[in-house]
Amino acid sequence: MRVMAQLAMVMNLDKCIGCHTCSVTCKQAWTNRGGTEYVWFNNVETRPGQGYPRQYQDQEKWKGGWTLNKRGKLSLKSGSRFKRLMNIFANPDLPTVEDYYEPWSYDYDNLLASPPTDTTPVARPKSLITGEDTKVTWGANWDDDLGSGPEAVGKDPLLGKLEDKVKLEFEETFMFYLPRICEHCLNPSCAASCPSGAIYKREEDGIVLVDQDKCRGWRQCITGCPYKKIYFNHKTGKAEKCTFCYPRVEVGIPTVCSETCVGRLRYIGVMLYDADAVLEAASVTDDKDLYPSQLGVFLNPHDPRVIAEAEKAGISPEWIQAAQDSPVYKLIVDYQLALPLHPEYRTMPMVWYVPPLSPVVDVLSETGHDGEDAGNLFGAIDALRIPIEYLAELFTAGEIGPVRASLQRLAGMRAFMRSVNLGEEPEPGIAPSIG
Ligand code: SF4
Ligand code: SF4
Repeated sequence: MRVMAQLAMVMNLDKCIGCHTCSVTCKQAWTNRGGTEYVWFNNVETRPGQGYPRQYQDQEKWKGGWTLNKRGKLSLKSGSRFKRLMNIFANPDLPTVEDYYEPWSYDYDNLLASPPTDTTPVARPKSLITGEDTKVTWGANWDDDLGSGPEAVGKDPLLGKLEDKVKLEFEETFMFYLPRICEHCLNPSCAASCPSGAIYKREEDGIVLVDQDKCRGWRQCITGCPYKKIYFNHKTGKAEKCTFCYPRVEVGIPTVCSETCVGRLRYIGVMLYDADAVLEAASVTDDKDLYPSQLGVFLNPHDPRVIAEAEKAGISPEWIQAAQDSPVYKLIVDYQLALPLHPEYRTMPMVWYVPPLSPVVDVLSETGHDGEDAGNLFGAIDALRIPIEYLAELFTAGEIGPVRASLQRLAGMRAFMRSVNLGEEPEPGIAPSIG
């Protein structure tokens, strides 16, 4: 066992209202300069939808993450070292600025200098990158306006996969928000893709960073990251990414996105894991086993053997204590409420999500409560607005069981807390389901 410590985040999706405060404050703090106009280290995407950059989940197209080769070993989806070196000259697997969206401002001079007319003068959108007039045709949250009914099926690759299982009639439309930052993966394919060795994972806290002095702008990391969370600064010619706000966390304050989140849905904590087990866990044959196999690399911070090994590895008593108090450990391991995003990319992501327990449509009970009542617990789960199959495509490579279990625990917890708050005796059967 080789114990290492990792900073991790869990986001509770039921609480995200899509206000983008996190994105804006992150942008103000970290990407408010030339060359990064299109860059959002933190973005909040609409689901179902195309994501940001659009269709980033289509790894057949973008070649991100790891795959298993014929010998069952992990290899980069972006190809052999030779192919990647060839791609240095003309990389065909990169999103263009149109895939991110073309950032624009308005030509206010045109508005103010316009002579009086019969109609109100209209400010023209100007590209922030080229300065030319732009015809704005797409944006990262365009799907909000399109709705998620039958329209969305052709746009969201996950829904496309589920066409046989999920029929979207107008009345069954659904929508939720998915905030995303770099996953600070345990097995980062961005780092493995970089020909200059410029990307590294910090030993002390697992934060993945780009060494700006070493980066030569090859952009292989952008192809290699399946979450498309590295960006190219076309002014400096270097790659940039979310830094987990390391200058802040080093002095004991949370990331900007967590501190400013309106929904208070971002939990930060320390996880201890077995570094020797990571590659084996990322190499299991069946994609559907990747969630449990990643769960298996996390170590119990209360186990005396783990504590002794952590001390031997030089992890400080403060960090061991932080791992013991970690809300992230509780949500991921103790309660098994939080799930990883796309474990099938095999990078072992470290930003996990509590899936949304969407409003129940037609299981309203006699009490007037929604379908989280104990009596309706199992029926309610089946009547959720967001299809469980869709959540499973996001979080467990299509395996429904862990998503169902997580939602049932959430429903049980809500029913239990409602009873407590109303001073009622919790219905029998609730407590075991939240245990
Ligand atoms: Fe690297 Fe972050 Fe992408 Fe993981 S999510 S591969 S750490 S850039
Ligand atoms: Fe969601 Fe919080 Fe970001 Fe608002 S600030 S969009 S609630 S994650």
